[in-house]
Amino acid sequence: MRIFNTLTKELEDFVPIDGAHVRMYTCGPTVYNFAHIGNFRAYVFEDLLRRYIKYSGYSITQVMNLTDVDDKTIKGAIASGMNLNDYTRTYKDAFFADLKVLNVEQAEHYPAATDHIPEMIAIIQKLLDKGYAYKSDDGSVYFSIAKFPAYGKLAHLDMSGLRAGARVAQDEYEKENAADFALWKAWDVNDGDVVWDAPWGKGRPGWHIECSAMSTKYLGETFDLHTGGVDNIFPHHEDEIAQSEAASGRQFVKYWMHCAHLVVDGRKMSKSLGNFYTLRDVISRGYTGRDIRYILMSAHYRQSLNFTFEALDAARSSLGRVDDFSARLRELAGSAIPAGDFRTSLPRWATVADVSFRQALDNDLNISESLAAVFDMIHEGNRMLDEQLKKGEDVALPCASVLALLKDFDRVLGYLEKAETQAGEEVLQLVRDREAARGAKNWAESDRIRDRLAALGWEIRDSKAGAKLVRMQ
Ligand code: AMP
Ligand code: ZN
Repeated sequence: MRIFNTLTKELEDFVPIDGAHVRMYTCGPTVYNFAHIGNFRAYVFEDLLRRYIKYSGYSITQVMNLTDVDDKTIKGAIASGMNLNDYTRTYKDAFFADLKVLNVEQAEHYPAATDHIPEMIAIIQKLLDKGYAYKSDDGSVYFSIAKFPAYGKLAHLDMSGLRAGARVAQDEYEKENAADFALWKAWDVNDGDVVWDAPWGKGRPGWHIECSAMSTKYLGETFDLHTGGVDNIFPHHEDEIAQSEAASGRQFVKYWMHCAHLVVDGRKMSKSLGNFYTLRDVISRGYTGRDIRYILMSAHYRQSLNFTFEALDAARSSLGRVDDFSARLRELAGSAIPAGDFRTSLPRWATVADVSFRQALDNDLNISESLAAVFDMIHEGNRMLDEQLKKGEDVALPCASVLALLKDFDRVLGYLEKAETQAGEEVLQLVRDREAARGAKNWAESDRIRDRLAALGWEIRDSKAGAKLVRMQ
């Protein structure tokens, strides 16, 4: 498998440090609002990467953090008059429900920043002890980028014009403003009751130190893969490298991978521009998690992807072709089951697709070519089956084998197979419980059950005729 490493700007062979086991860190959501589908492009890309790593025979430990304390979460909590934990909980729960709708596999760990303050303090202390960090007059702690000569290596910055000693307090800033950044921000009145004690004074961590602390705790000082959207390269990932490598004296991450943005009319989909749709917005227009997953994954991860509803309609019709083909195969396969390895009984047109599918993904996750392999197979398969049926040949076993191949491809793609359309007993019981809660006017309980149903992939729509269950993916 070859991947493009942002650090070297080259396509490299992927060779995990531990041989067969991959350690991967993905920057997770800042839980101050519902994630938008631009954010989900990043998470779906990471899911494709994770699934393909497993498909290629490796095992994996993936960590995705939840940023539940930073400039934005504190601002949101204060504006809504809630304490930080109550405020972020809603968005944490919504995030996991949304991942389920998009059929994103669960990571092994989802650490929250507020549960790891002591680990952050320990790294900051180490940086102070080693002389990489200093305390400012207001009691904050800053990282001195002049002390770390490799600063700028990920974002490929020219540091010759560095303004020594300049400082930046915000979590997010532009490349032109590269400066000493905050590891710890001294408490100020805008922080309300969000405050922790550190040996150098009261305050709260900066955003970047969170990921250094949580990645090191779960993956060690050096690990294989670190991912995010391109907007994470600077300053977030650059600062993570500086903190982690200065503290440990070792290389932090071997491969960095970043996905390009989901754009709307040429501009990044983002909360600040207001040009965003949440997953819920799109679902409420009648699309499924499966349609959205397909679209988010449809372009190569390093190419920006323009979001339109027409593209979603096209996604739906492509998936319809997959469904028609699968239905045809199922019918023709009857009760046939391939004995042993299904690959030994594949027809030639499917073997060709099997090889191309893997070759394409091995080449820096070339999704367009791998999808072309799948759709060419469908086209060619339908044609060949027509011919064989005309001749009266028995196609049951090859069809059963191709079905198994589609299932195998779906370990990577996660949308070829249709989700269960029948609600199981757990779901039906939840619906009954919700009716009871509504009857008793216990709205909090009824909302809780609605969220639980969403997490299981079901939306409930109330109407005069009663509640209707709708599958979200
Ligand atoms: P945030 O919650 O802002 O920290 O973003 C979470 C993840 O979503 C990060 O990996 C970002 O790089 C990514 N992201 C944000 N906006 C977009 C977008 N329009 N397209 C793709 N990824 C994005
Ligand atoms: Zn991060």
